[in-house]
Amino acid sequence: MRSTLLLDQSYQPLDIISWQDAIRLLTLGKCEVIEEYDDEVRSKFLIIKMPAVVRLINMFRRGKNKTVKFSRISIYARDNFKCQYCGMKGKMKDFTFDHVVPRSRGGKTNWDNIVTACVPCNTKKNNRTPAEAKMKLLKQPVKPNWVPIISLRLTQRSIPDKWASYLYWNSELDED
Ligand SMILES: [Zn+2]
Repeated sequence: MRSTLLLDQSYQPLDIISWQDAIRLLTLGKCEVIEEYDDEVRSKFLIIKMPAVVRLINMFRRGKNKTVKFSRISIYARDNFKCQYCGMKGKMKDFTFDHVVPRSRGGKTNWDNIVTACVPCNTKKNNRTPAEAKMKLLKQPVKPNWVPIISLRLTQRSIPDKWASYLYWNSELDED
């Protein structure tokens, strides 16, 4: 099934929606078509190309989606679904999160102190700092500045060609 990339007024990716929802927004005059697929949609009254990328005319969805929620899934997405100690790539179920500075040592639960870790690394590290455990972090954790919903879903599917230039501007794809 085709999906449509929804951009905000400043051409930043906001969400991935179904092409039906994109057409609903179009008929309501809420967005404009930026890129089209070659496939056509036929109804009784019209034949149009299926929208690949649409841009909101008003900013009504902005704000809500612009801050990165501090959640387990956003942390995994920030870390590219990779254990930050051994570098193992995996899925949701393979990971837990690790306090870099353990909570028992005053380590906080925030973007700067939480990383994605596989269960073996998390167990091995235990209540120690990376230095004490002689386990080096792949990179220092920081708060991400992308919209998590996009990077998350893109790990599960291939990116349509028509979306590429709108996504490559964003920081979530420049890791690795
Ligand atoms: Zn690991």
